[in-house]
Amino acid sequence: MSAVRSVDFLIIGAGPAGYVAAIRLAQLGRKVVLVERERVGGVCLNWGCIPVKSLLHAASAVRGAAEARRMGIVFGQPEVDFQALYGWKGRVVDRLVRGVEFLLRSNGIETVKGKARFINGQRVMVVQPDGSETEIGAESIIIATGSTSSVLPGFEPDGKYVVDSYGALNLTRLPGRVVIVGAGAIGLEFATAFRRLGASVSVLELMPQLLPGFDAEVSSALRKAMQSEGIDFHLGVKVTGLDREPGLAVRFLAGEAESTVETDLVMVAVGRRPLTAGLELEQAGVKLDERGFVTVDQKYRTSAARIHAIGDVKPGPMLAHRAMADGISLAESLGGGRPWRFRAVPSCVYTDPEVASVGISEAEAAGQNVKVKVSRVPISALGRSLTLGRSDGLCKMVVDAATDKVLGVQIAAPQADVLIAEATAAIELGLTSAELGRVVHAHPTMSELLFEAAEAIHSKAVHIVNR
Ligand code: FAD
Ligand code: NAD
Repeated sequence: MSAVRSVDFLIIGAGPAGYVAAIRLAQLGRKVVLVERERVGGVCLNWGCIPVKSLLHAASAVRGAAEARRMGIVFGQPEVDFQALYGWKGRVVDRLVRGVEFLLRSNGIETVKGKARFINGQRVMVVQPDGSETEIGAESIIIATGSTSSVLPGFEPDGKYVVDSYGALNLTRLPGRVVIVGAGAIGLEFATAFRRLGASVSVLELMPQLLPGFDAEVSSALRKAMQSEGIDFHLGVKVTGLDREPGLAVRFLAGEAESTVETDLVMVAVGRRPLTAGLELEQAGVKLDERGFVTVDQKYRTSAARIHAIGDVKPGPMLAHRAMADGISLAESLGGGRPWRFRAVPSCVYTDPEVASVGISEAEAAGQNVKVKVSRVPISALGRSLTLGRSDGLCKMVVDAATDKVLGVQIAAPQADVLIAEATAAIELGLTSAELGRVVHAHPTMSELLFEAAEAIHSKAVHIVNR
């Protein structure tokens, strides 16, 4: 038996795109129904940003204990209670999920638990966990169903020997040896955590550098740091197969030569794909592009009238803050609020050193024939770096050669995730490096990296020798 009802706004998916859009629409006085098949918070809270950063933080304690020896403080050998650690990570997630549930309730948003599919361009059927169905009609529907792991043929996750990021967050014990396929953000964050917790880690990557697409110098600084912790990299290799007998081993081609690496667990982290399966988008006339993303214009409009798409399910960087910004931007325009068109979207990877980037890199500028000036400041120039026990890393600033406007910043440094906010603001607001060089930065802080990089554009950095 299916109940039938009608609402103004229906949002499918309560990840960072969907729940943020719902809250902003409610703040603008609009009535919203949010449909979610699992817990609210999406991949970000339940299977992504939050659990992985919790593990990384815990694992940094192990590293800290090892580093303290150099500073004259000696701990005993750390012992990792893996189940307790995963339990703690789960409690961090639970608390944040409850927080989002509270915010949704407090804003008067009705959340319907169930799996949604389109009946037509204005009606959706929600199948609830008990099998009952509710048909909901809406004036406006927002698709925010996110993404899921890409599968590497021959390496389908089985939960035991081969896992993706979901499986890696559900382990019951730490394997002795882990092979990670893919040196993108997911692969490198898990490599860092697993290595620090005590596993031997090998990473196999198709491209010749870590984090393809990031600045090569920044990527190389990260590779050196991760190698110094004992992580083994095979770059520019083609993974060819998985042997299960006599033991688990991954086969790969390095040039013409075939090699194998033995392991106890394989983690596949070769990207993510949009999640539209089961939505029956064709019933609503919503078109997908050749890679399976929902096609949208600059205002998030799909090919169907009054249906919009935001977050990972449409093209663009698959990042939680991007999804949230999409949610706010769309809600403001649909809800009659203040239009918001953002340009600069930062990207951070929570390795050690952390890596962060916004805008264009030196190589991208060359590829686009943009005339730029580039400065480069090693973190060893900063007092704060050395007080943190870190001297490997750098900051690069790319500015327009004619206008001096900041076009991009790439950083490998402690706290790069925080530092990139200033660079993002500079790009979004159209600031020049000369203007950034007129801002007093507290000492000793890592933020001085941006000050020095801005001054170095004009050969006036005080703490490096200018070229
Ligand atoms: P999602 O978070 O995927 O949410 C979509 C929601 O829709 C889900 O809850 C899903 O259950 C629901 N849904 C899907 N289909 C239906 C349906 N038919 N009916 C009802 N509900 C449905 N990004 C960062 O910016 N920083 C990070 O540090 C970071 N770390 C990550 C680490 C990992 C391991 C992973 C996998 C991702 C990470 N990301 C990170 C990416 C980030 O999680 C995503 O970009 C973000 O979650 C996308 O938000 P979204 O709302 O578009 O989709
Ligand atoms: P990714 O696309 O960032 O990296 C995948 C890597 O796998 C690439 O380096 C690619 O060259 C490599 N690869 C692809 N096929 C391969 C093969 N057959 N053999 C070996 N290597 C192969 O994807 P991801 O790391 O899985 O992350 C997925 C998404 O989640 C990304 O869009 C990312 O932005 C997001 N994410 C972000 C963060 C963060 O912001 N800190 C953290 C995790 C995930």
